[in-house]
Amino acid sequence: MREAADDMDREADRLTELDSAIGDADHGTNMRRGFDAVRTALAEDAPERPETPGAVLRLAGKKLVSTVGGASGPLYGTLLRRTGKALGDAPSVSVGELAEALRTGVDAVAQLGGAAPGDKTMLDALLPAVEAMPKGLDGASTAAAEGAEATVPLLARKGRASYLGERSVGHQDPGATSAALLVGALARAGEGGGE
Ligand code: ADP
Ligand code: MG
Repeated sequence: MREAADDMDREADRLTELDSAIGDADHGTNMRRGFDAVRTALAEDAPERPETPGAVLRLAGKKLVSTVGGASGPLYGTLLRRTGKALGDAPSVSVGELAEALRTGVDAVAQLGGAAPGDKTMLDALLPAVEAMPKGLDGASTAAAEGAEATVPLLARKGRASYLGERSVGHQDPGATSAALLVGALARAGEGGGE
């Protein structure tokens, strides 16, 4: 989550720029604000700092819901809360277990937002990541980045970008881009230990 917060800080301008092309130019600000709150909630000296991977994700999801707003707040909040719920309170988690839990979280995002693969949303980065993750975090990270890039030629069918119709074609989806950052951060955090 700390790695993700750093990425959102660093890439906030880019995310907002992408959202200015096919949305309302707030995605970078939204994600930065949300992950700042997550970082604070998980700081060394934070009261009631969670101790298991599942509890970390559940708290992070709760913070995103209460601070991000827009469409992406509830969607990312659901992703992390449902993934965290699926992990339960295990003290450590294997990549295989994480992949399974993330699938539950991504399914919940699809259900909440009603988006299908190819609709030019965060799901277009998250679904390939989930597919690739059982073979390792690096592959999942690459798959998410490729999925985000592959949203460029797509026509948006959900969210604000869908109001643009054909004019949404030719731009990378901001939410798919932030989702790829999130999976990239996960892969970096998992380096070395592999778990
Ligand atoms: P808003 O659209 O309310 O301004 P953001 O700009 O923070 O919210 O987030 C926009 C991103 O949210 C989009 O780029 C897209 O990836 C994602 N999104 C929007 N609606 C949906 C949906 N129904 N399902 C999945 N993702 C969605
Ligand atoms: Mg927006």
